[in-house]
Amino acid sequence: MPPDQTRGDARSRQVGVLLPLPFDEPFTYRLPDDVHAELGDIVDVPFGPRRVAGVVWDEGDGDVPPEKLKDVIGAFEVPGLTPELRRFVEWVAAYTMSNSGSVLKMVLSVPDGLLPPKPVTAYALADSVPHIRMTNARKRVIEAAGELPPLPAADLAREAGCGPSVVKGLAEAGVLEQRTLVPSGGFQPPDPSAEGPALSPEQAAAADALRELAAAHRFGVSLLEGIPGAGKTEVYLEAVVAALEAGKQALVLLPEIALSAQWMDRFRQRFGCRPAEWHSDLTPARRRTNWRAVATGEARVVVGARSALFLPYPELGVIVVDEEQDASYKQEDGVIYNARDMAIVRAREEEVPVVLVSATPSLETVENVRQGRYGHHNLPDRHAGAEFPDVDVVDMRADSPPAGEWLSSPLRAAITGTLDQGEQVLLFLNRRGYAPLTLCRACGHRLQCPNCTSWLVEHRLMNRLQCHHCGYAADLPNTCPSCEAENKLAACGPGVERLAEEVAAQYPDARVVIAASDTIHGPGQAAALVRLIEEREVDIVIGTQIVAKGYHFPHLTLVGVVDSDLGLSGGDLRAAERTYQLLYQVAGRAGREHRPGRVVLQTFMPDHPVIKSLAAGDRDGFLSAEAKDRESAGMPPFGRLAGVVLSSPDPYQVDRAANALRRTAPSEDGVQVLGPAPAPMALLRGRHRRRFLVKAGREVNLQKALRNWLSITPLPKKVRVQLDIDPYSFM
Ligand code: ADP
Ligand code: ZN
Repeated sequence: MPPDQTRGDARSRQVGVLLPLPFDEPFTYRLPDDVHAELGDIVDVPFGPRRVAGVVWDEGDGDVPPEKLKDVIGAFEVPGLTPELRRFVEWVAAYTMSNSGSVLKMVLSVPDGLLPPKPVTAYALADSVPHIRMTNARKRVIEAAGELPPLPAADLAREAGCGPSVVKGLAEAGVLEQRTLVPSGGFQPPDPSAEGPALSPEQAAAADALRELAAAHRFGVSLLEGIPGAGKTEVYLEAVVAALEAGKQALVLLPEIALSAQWMDRFRQRFGCRPAEWHSDLTPARRRTNWRAVATGEARVVVGARSALFLPYPELGVIVVDEEQDASYKQEDGVIYNARDMAIVRAREEEVPVVLVSATPSLETVENVRQGRYGHHNLPDRHAGAEFPDVDVVDMRADSPPAGEWLSSPLRAAITGTLDQGEQVLLFLNRRGYAPLTLCRACGHRLQCPNCTSWLVEHRLMNRLQCHHCGYAADLPNTCPSCEAENKLAACGPGVERLAEEVAAQYPDARVVIAASDTIHGPGQAAALVRLIEEREVDIVIGTQIVAKGYHFPHLTLVGVVDSDLGLSGGDLRAAERTYQLLYQVAGRAGREHRPGRVVLQTFMPDHPVIKSLAAGDRDGFLSAEAKDRESAGMPPFGRLAGVVLSSPDPYQVDRAANALRRTAPSEDGVQVLGPAPAPMALLRGRHRRRFLVKAGREVNLQKALRNWLSITPLPKKVRVQLDIDPYSFM
């Protein structure tokens, strides 16, 4: 046989398979005659001593000698990845500067889901029921079996409230008979014709526009904006309905999905069935069935956290990103991505609309609306008729509580008044982070970096003040640089538990509960807490940001923000924006449901733009001031930003590597490299970390500049480099 003939044959029967492993390129395999697999199909291949499920990505590398090729073992019986999804994987990899295999791993996150579910034995009532000795448990099982489809023994027993042995006993007696059943996800198709509430004219206008986009199967981004309770959810559910009517699947992304049982109930009430959930609290069995139900198209509506964006929808029709500004959309390890931004990319690849939803949209989104890149629908009024609560500001410089206490007299008076009315209080204190701010107790001054718009953060280990952006460092002074008062500088602030002590001393009869992520574990406990509050078993809730979002507490009429300034510390570009959003959301917890609400903000900075605009209800004023600051600093969304974090177990090695990178830093036009500076988390899981911040103009290809930079600088193997495009965290 002529040599090129062999080659031709081999090439026609080989495939490139991308593996869910940290490699950028597909590996080439031979496709035996008895294995049928097309582009996108999921196949089983040998990889070293293992077997791995990968995806047929291309034709393979024709230069690999045929005798070196291993055989594809088989193809899985599950729909392959669509061309749209494969392009999305490549795009995300290129943008985040990760390898394609690591992105693919987020798609193939449940290898067990590739296998068809194993048939199970189920029990149903027999046609003729023999006479047996009856017990209450047996009666309940017979009743349940009569009403339900055939179920496995354990499930039927759970429905009847007895043990599986009762079911087995009835089967032996011939009352129940066994059937073999292939389990499915159990997802019924939602009924798109189920009526929602009659919409207000503004709601209807927004819903019509979204429905039209979803029906037309066209890409477009829309911002759906409105204060909490304005009916945004009702409106975007109409876009979901339109996608369902067009025979498509719908994806709704929510932050902190585990806490949103209220959302699930609402969906069930409207559509008579449950959506497929996707988040980190699913059991392995649920993950498997849900993944497969999405891949086969059985699940029509998925509601999930950020990772739900990477599920293999065969026919996606719309994506909704609720609370689009939420920082939990940013994944901070592995492939570092923002699910809000990547949702837009996926929608573009799929040619479907994406709806961003928020009461306090991000500056990025607001700017895109202003420039006409996104559509915009505003729902002006709170639907339920209640108003946004009144906001009072307490100037803590004038009204400061005694040392070691944190509640000012105006806030105490408001709490007393609210409790006297039999209503509930939320005291909000978002005490997170380990590096406290440093402020002057005499004048309220905060220590700031001379080179950056950022607060200096105390690092206790080194006993120094540092800027998280540029590396500026100074000793902690004894006198305030602003008012020159001596020994008044203090790193201070209580945590929720310390606050609870003060509350207990002040209001000994009040029933107090602390709600923080370390006191509430999982959705079950969260739901129990919500019920406790709803049923007025609690008078005062002391909570962190986990109580800020989405909940609806009918008897809560006072929100006291203990330290409104807390989020403004730390070298975070979005500190002001996030604080505004968070306080706005917390404030929205007060006085829903026809009772007027009141919010008390305690602050040392009553003149700060965030506080002033909250008090005045002037969101637009805040946003335009913030936009102006960012624009003049060349910061996002007006410029591009990347974080580069070097880490190593050896502090000298990481410093040497950081200095080497400093020397080769790109000097091209429009690119500015700040750093290296010790990361605020200078030691994390045993690794010493140094940070660069790379700033670039919007026109600059930032990824290319970073790739060049890193490729010309040899670094020791032990030094890990983490790239964060569009960073949200500056830790
Ligand atoms: P948002 O998502 O903006 O916070 P929701 O969609 O949750 O607002 O609406 C708040 C409450 O008002 C919900 O209980 C919702 O069912 C109800 N609601 C909204 N719009 C209407 C309407 N047009 N008719 C009746 N109830 C409505
Ligand atoms: Zn600085």
